Amino acid sequence: MHPTLAADLARLPELLQTARDFAARELSRVDERPVATAEEAPGPERLPADGVGAQGALDRFAQRWEPGFSGSAGPRYLGFVTGGATPAALTGDWLTGAYDQNGSSGGGSTSDALERETVGWLRELFGLGEAHRGAFVSGATMSNTVGLAIAREWLGERLGVSVSRAGAAALGPVTVLSGSPHSSITKALSVLGIGRDRLRPVPLLGGEREAVDVARLAEELEALDGRPAIVVANAGTVNTVDFDDLRAIAALKERYDFWLHVDAAFGAFAALSPAHASLVDGFDAADSICVDLHKWLNVPYDAAVQFTRRQDLQVRVFHNESPYLGLPTGTPDFLHLTPENSRRLRALATWFSLTAYGREGHAEIVERCAALARRLGEGISAVPGLRLLAPVHLNVVCFTLADRPTAERLAAVARAVADSGEAFLTPTVLHGTPALRAAFSNWRTTEEDTDRVRDALARAVRGLPAPESV
Ligand SMILES: *Cc1c(COP(=O)(O)O)cnc(C)c1O
Repeated sequence: MHPTLAADLARLPELLQTARDFAARELSRVDERPVATAEEAPGPERLPADGVGAQGALDRFAQRWEPGFSGSAGPRYLGFVTGGATPAALTGDWLTGAYDQNGSSGGGSTSDALERETVGWLRELFGLGEAHRGAFVSGATMSNTVGLAIAREWLGERLGVSVSRAGAAALGPVTVLSGSPHSSITKALSVLGIGRDRLRPVPLLGGEREAVDVARLAEELEALDGRPAIVVANAGTVNTVDFDDLRAIAALKERYDFWLHVDAAFGAFAALSPAHASLVDGFDAADSICVDLHKWLNVPYDAAVQFTRRQDLQVRVFHNESPYLGLPTGTPDFLHLTPENSRRLRALATWFSLTAYGREGHAEIVERCAALARRLGEGISAVPGLRLLAPVHLNVVCFTLADRPTAERLAAVARAVADSGEAFLTPTVLHGTPALRAAFSNWRTTEEDTDRVRDALARAVRGLPAPESV
């Protein structure tokens, strides 16, 4: 054994304790850390010929890289939809590395059964029926990709071809209909050989709404004249967290032949809140479903879950073929279900958080985030120079400048807020109007944090250059 490696092995408990102390110190002040950093990345170094050992590596990391890391796990990072890591989730994540199980199959370990138990818990958490089967993947993009891959195989079934054998070209042009899909949907269509341009946008309800107009969707389906299609319903859009009417869309299946995929990356969590659960009415009727976990469940990156009613088709797409084995039957090993073959046991962090806090603990995070979003929405309405672009439906506040809301001026506001170290918000465009959005999904965020964000925004708006006099 290399002497440095041998020395590290000899003092492994001590090294882990040092790493633990380091992480504990940093996490105890995560809410003081600048929410986004303006630090330049350090210049590249050469590959070490002789290593410095784990302690030396920790010292180098602390010196060279750690200062530039953001406080995105903290309570006032409201960009994208981010989330942090609950204490139990972090514990599970550490142990995932420590045990280093290969989640590809059951061979010699019960870890795959732990993943199945966890997927079952998630199914229950989101109110899905037993017909849905699932697996862990690395994020909602991958979950959408898996769902649409199963949809693609289903189109083949309807048209009498095997896409997994003959390729996507055997389908001819595919129609994918959606109102306000996330950018990961077109990415998935590109990866799957369906093609980004096959997404046909369906008109929305109008006004500030981002939900699809179901009557227009029905017209699009009617025009297909019986050809099967894919419908992507959106349960929680990123700008305003608007929800398609899932029940009404599912009802169209009685008349038209389509696969219903629901992207509920973070909107699925509405199911945990009695006040908001009606937003996901009809969820269970989907053929495939995407839910992110590293967002609102607050487990560390990278984790999401995919569900489908047609695991048989999923196996056709993803089975790891060997010359002497046919299609897996019964309960397929995970390597026959996901793009990965060897896989991290990423279910463990979720298992820990659900075991530690249960449905009620996670529901509290959802309820609190929704209440804080409402609070910020009210706060922003009272800040001179800002106005809401849509009502706060769930956990995102979408707003703009009352006066000349150009992309440049909004970027200047976002930059000033980020430079103050107080908060981080991301820009967007809603129906042509440049805007900012503040997304609440972190388990740590409090009312005090929310008021600090409002104050930072008010200061940034006051600091904008005055209009040029003519
Ligand atoms: C975040 C998000 C995605 C993509 O999720 P990743 O985990 O970043 O891959 C897809 N759909 C929606 C609605 C999202 O909010």
